[in-house]
Amino acid sequence: MFLQVCVLGLLAAITSGLLLYQESQRSRRAADRQLAHEELLRLNDFVETLVLSRQRSTATVSYAANIERYLLKPSPQATAAMNTRLRKLRDSLAVSAIYVLDETGLTLASSDYNETPSHVGQNFQTRDYFRQSLLGLPAQEIDNGRLTGRFGAYYSYPIIGDSAVGGDSSRFLGALVIKDSFKLPLLGSAKKEIAALKVNTVSVVNMVGPGGRIVASNRDGWIGKVLAGVPLSGKGHRRFNFEGATYTATSVELQDFPGWHLLRLQPTRHWLVDTLSPLMTQTGGLYLLLLCAVMVGMIGFYRRAAVSVRKRELAHKRLRRSHQRYRELSCRDALTGLYNRRAYQNDLAREIQRAQRYGHPLSVALLDIDFFKKINDLHGHETGDRVLRQIAKLIRDTIREADMAYRFGGEEFIVVLPETDGSAAETVIKRIQKALLDSEANAEEPIGFPVTFSCGIAAYQQNDTARELFERADALLYRVKANGRNGVQVQD
Ligand code: GH3
Ligand code: MG
Ligand code: MG
Repeated sequence: MFLQVCVLGLLAAITSGLLLYQESQRSRRAADRQLAHEELLRLNDFVETLVLSRQRSTATVSYAANIERYLLKPSPQATAAMNTRLRKLRDSLAVSAIYVLDETGLTLASSDYNETPSHVGQNFQTRDYFRQSLLGLPAQEIDNGRLTGRFGAYYSYPIIGDSAVGGDSSRFLGALVIKDSFKLPLLGSAKKEIAALKVNTVSVVNMVGPGGRIVASNRDGWIGKVLAGVPLSGKGHRRFNFEGATYTATSVELQDFPGWHLLRLQPTRHWLVDTLSPLMTQTGGLYLLLLCAVMVGMIGFYRRAAVSVRKRELAHKRLRRSHQRYRELSCRDALTGLYNRRAYQNDLAREIQRAQRYGHPLSVALLDIDFFKKINDLHGHETGDRVLRQIAKLIRDTIREADMAYRFGGEEFIVVLPETDGSAAETVIKRIQKALLDSEANAEEPIGFPVTFSCGIAAYQQNDTARELFERADALLYRVKANGRNGVQVQD
C-alpha cells in the first residue's frame, strides 16, 4: 500500500512537472514570437528611415540640369554637355550615378558615360521606378543594380513636357534617375541592428530582397544566399525548409519598398523533443532528482507525522478509558454493582439542590434487611452475599430510570427518587417487597424462609439538608424494625 502510494505520488509529481515544464516552454515560445515580431517592426522602421533619409530631391536636380529641354532635342552635342553636367551633379551630391532615360526607358545620358560599365545605352523600362514615372509619379525603390550588382536606392522623377519650352503640354518625355548605392557592408548600421537582435541566439534574421536574395543577415555566411520559396507574405508563422533544417518564418515587408522583407527564421523541432531534451540535460536530470527527493522526503515526513499522531491518539484513548473506569470503580459497589455511599452523597446533594430550586418533590428510602445476621449464621456468608445481590437486582429492576439505588452499608440500601412524593415512593418500595417474596417462592435455590426488609421513607421539605433527610428516613426505619419489621413507614 505504502509503495503504491509512493509510486503514484512520484508519477503524479513527474507528470505535473512535465506539464508545468511544457506549459512554461509554450508561453516562453509565444513571448519569443511576440518579441520577434516587435523586433522586426523596429528593424523595419530603422531600414526605412535609413533609405528615406538618403533621398535626394530629384525635382531639384531635374530643374538644375534643364532636362526637359534636353529630352526635346537630344543631339550628340547636347548629350555630351548633359553627361558632364550629370557627372558634376553626381559628385556634388555624392551619389553613385545620375542618368536620364527617354520615354522608352533607354539611357541617353549618364554621369558614368565614360566608365565601364556605363548606364548609357541601357534600357530600364522594366524597372518599377520607370513604370511609376510613366504614370507621372516620382518613385523610390531599393534593389540591386543591374550593371554593378550593387544594392541601393533608386529615386526617379518623371519629366513631363511643358509648352513654355516648346513641347506638348503633359507629354511624358522620360525620367531622371538617381542611384544611391549602399555597399552591402554599408548597410553596416542596419547589419549591426540585425546582428544585435537578442530575440533568440539561434534564430536567423535576414533582410531579403525580391527573388529571396539575402542582403543582410546576422549569420555572415548567409549573405548572398537565395531563399527560394520562402513564404514571405501572409499572416502568422509559416514553416519553411532551408538547407535541411526546418524553420518557423516570421516576416514583415518594408512599408515603402514592396518586395523587400525582414525575415526571421526560428529553427523548429518536434514539441516532444523540445519538451524532453532539456530533461536529458544535466539541469533536467537535477530537476527530476530534486523532484524525487522532495517526494520521498514528503512521504517520509507524512508517515512519521501520521505515526506519531496515531500513537498520541491511542495514548489519549487509553488514558480516557482508565479515567472512566476509575471513576466507575470509585462510585460502584463491587458486590452488587449498585452505586456506593460516596456516589449517594454526591447525587443526593445535587438532587436536593434541584428539588429546592424548582420546588419538585424528592424522596429518600432507606432499606435494611431483616435478621440478616441470621441468614449469615444459618447459611453462611456466601448465601448472605447472594441475597444482597438478589435484592440489589430486584431494586434495580423495579425502580424507574430516573431513580438511583445505592448500597449504603453492609445490608442497607438507599433509593433516591426524584420527582416522587412519599406515597409514590411507598408504592415503589412495596413493589420491591412483593417482588422479593415472589422471587423466594420461584427461586431455583430458595433460602428456605422468607427474606424481608424494613424501609423508612423521608420526603424532601424546604431547606432540608442531606443529613436531615437521611435521619428522618432512618428514624422511620427504626420504627418499622420496632414494629415487627417487613414493612414501610412514610413520613406524614
Ligand atoms: P435487623 O433486622 O435488626 O436489621 O437484624 P440484622 O441481623 O440484620 O441486624 P444487623 O443490621 O445488625 O446485622 C447486619 C449484619 O449484616 C452484620 C454483618 O455480619 C452482616 N453483613 C454486613 N455486610 C455484609 C456483607 O457484605 N455480606 C454478608 N454476607 N453479610 C454482611
Ligand atoms: Mg443493618
Ligand atoms: Mg438488618
